[in-house]
Formats: sequence, C-alpha cells, structure tokens
Amino acid sequence: MDTLTNVDQTFVRELNLSSVIKRLHDKGTLSRAQLALLTGLNKSTVSSLVEELFQRGLIRETGINSNGTGRPATLLEINPLAGGIIGLELGVDFVTVLLTDFVGSVLWRRQCTVDPTEGEEPTIALTLDLIDEAIKDCKERKLRVLGLGVSTPGTVDLKEKILVFAPNLHWRNIPLGRIYSDHVRLPVFIDNDGNAAAVGEHLFGMARQVRNFIFVFAGVGIGGGLFLNNELYRGNNGFAGEIGHSPLVWNPASRTPCHCGNRGCWETNANQYSIIRRAEACLEVKRSTIISHLMEQKKAPLSISLIKEAADGGDQVARDILTETGEVMGLGIASLVNIFNPEKVILGGPLIIVGDYLLPAIKLSVRKHALPEIADQVDIILSSFRADASVFGAIALVVNNILMNPIQVSKEVVQERLPETMIEK
Ligand SMILES: [Zn+2]
Repeated sequence: MDTLTNVDQTFVRELNLSSVIKRLHDKGTLSRAQLALLTGLNKSTVSSLVEELFQRGLIRETGINSNGTGRPATLLEINPLAGGIIGLELGVDFVTVLLTDFVGSVLWRRQCTVDPTEGEEPTIALTLDLIDEAIKDCKERKLRVLGLGVSTPGTVDLKEKILVFAPNLHWRNIPLGRIYSDHVRLPVFIDNDGNAAAVGEHLFGMARQVRNFIFVFAGVGIGGGLFLNNELYRGNNGFAGEIGHSPLVWNPASRTPCHCGNRGCWETNANQYSIIRRAEACLEVKRSTIISHLMEQKKAPLSISLIKEAADGGDQVARDILTETGEVMGLGIASLVNIFNPEKVILGGPLIIVGDYLLPAIKLSVRKHALPEIADQVDIILSSFRADASVFGAIALVVNNILMNPIQVSKEVVQERLPETMIEK
C-alpha cells in the first residue's frame, strides 16, 4: 500500500476527530475505551484525538465510571461552554435571534415583529443590531462566539450563501452570507427554514437517531425538510422540500393565489392566512363565537393567538376552524407519507402555537388519505421547539458544521482538568 501523504493524513485525522465528537454528541458520556470500541480506532489514536478536542475546548471530563470490572475510566462529554452559538430566524413578519451554549441551552433570546411590505433593508438592519446584542451578551458571559446560523423562509444557494427567492417576503437574490459575515466576522451558515428545523430536530430534538423523517414547518407558508437515510435530501439544485407549493387543489382557478405566483398550492389552504380567512367567513355569517368579543375587548385584529385564546376558552367555532385546517394539513402530509414512508413527521413553526388543536385532525386526515400500511406506522408529532423550531435549526447549522469539522474551532480555551491520578491512560 502507498504511504499516506501529509494531506491524506490530515484529512483522515479530521475525519477521525469528527467521528469521536459525533459519538460523544450521540451518546452523551463515553470513556476513551468506549470511544475506541465505537469508532473502531485504536486506543492511542483515540487518546490523541480526545486530547486535541480537549485543547479546542469542545469536550470535557465529567467524572469517573467505576462500574464493572477493570480500571475506573474517565468519562468525557461535549463541553456546553465550548462557546456561544447565535441563531437568526428570518420569519415573514418577525425575526428571532437566539444565543445558546454549545449544547443548545438558551442563554439569551429576542423576537421582534417586522413589516414584510417594507423590503429587506430595515429588517436586515434590525437583525444586525440584535446580533450585536447577542454577541455582547455572549462576551459578558466570558464565552467565545463560535458562529452564526441563519434560517430563511425561501430557497437558498448554499455554495454562494444567497437567499434565492422567498415568495412570502418577495425577496430575491439577497447575498445574506456576505452581509452577515462582513458584519460579524464569524463563520456564517445559511439554510432554508424547513431544512434548518430538520437539522435542529435531528441534533437536539424529537428526531435524534431517527434516519427517516419529514419536518413540516408551518407559518405564513409551509416549508419542509426531508431527512432521508440519515441525511438532509436537497434535490438536484438544492431546493428540495418546498412542500407547501405542491399543487394540491384541483380547479385552482377558483382558489386563493399563492405568493409563489400559482394557485391551488397546499399552503394557501393550510397556512396562517387560511385560518384567518376561515375565521372571517364564520364572523361574516355571524356564527356564535367569542372571537369577535375578544377582538373588541383587546381592540386587536383577528390573529392566530386570538383564535387560540377562543379555542382555549372552549369556543366551538375556533376549534372547528383549527380542525378544518388540520384536515387540510393532513391531506398534504398524507401525500408526503405515501411517497417517503418516513418513521416520523414532525410539525413545527409559528403556526404550531395551535399545534395541540391541529394534531388530532392531522392524524385522522392522514389515516383517512394515506395508504393504511404506511399511515399506521408513521408517528406524527410536534417539534420539541414548537414555534422556535427554525431558530433552533439555525443554531444547529453551526453546531452540526463544527461536529463535522472540529478543527475550525481554535485551541484557545484552557479548561480545568480532573486530577492527574483520575485520568485514564
Ligand atoms: Zn405556491
């Protein structure tokens, strides 16, 4: 066999570093011996890799496992204080900025509403200010910032880090990668909201260790993340997962136009606006409901949170509206389930504040419309992060990238070690 070149050796070492840190992320705590067993690497290689991850501050010693026979072993785990991660969700009518530690625990969060008709400039300027606040908070905690993840409600050119088209914002070809990296001087990762949410759920949420699942991201639109055979499916041009624009309704000429320019798209019948339209129709025919009373009392326009409040108060009209929306969401999910036969379908996004009302209707609808053998086996659940699924996804974009390529994190953190006598050799 030819001798490995230096370049090859560096590449193999990077792969092995990634393999070790990913095992720790998946399993929680492991000893060096367990890592050797799981990765198939020899113990001295594992010890050297562990030492490097330790120097980069990415893992820490967490105690001693003295169970079983043999010498007690030092246990290792991911270091939550490896650094702070900033996530930005560009919603359609809001932005959220989140600061977490390296294992996704929230340290700081801000959300602001924005007016989508004002164009991209004021929204982006606002997000830059919020990101500056998050960085300041992170530094006050004496944590370095490891990166910024951005989730967007549109298609993304991953290579150039450009938002190609966000139908509900009417934004086209925005060089978000350049804008944010010029400002923050940090590694910046950008993805579509449904894709980001799927990565977040796989890394931190309900889809850990799940190889096949579909994330349905519902809000002003419906986006999707197709996680197939243990990786995100991106399609030929990287735009896969635009599930909300499936032409679900026949005779589309009579239907509500979609922001993508078509008529009859699934999302126009199952998004936030569709719930508002259903409520307006009920108010127009004067169905008996407390919705109008709540609007008057709060001097507020019709909104999803107001409809939720009515439903929480037992209002039948509000509950019927959400049930009907759930049925239509179930129709689209039934097609996805038939095509992909996933283990789970996970629902998240701003609309999932009413998820508890939608879910029973979605499950019934999928059972009614998908093939029984497939529908019986799929688990349809709400995201761990509910309405915040996409901003946690933005965090996960950064963490995932570091797990794949740990050497991007510098060796600058000095950690306390366990006493020398306790270290497993
Ligand atoms: Zn559409």
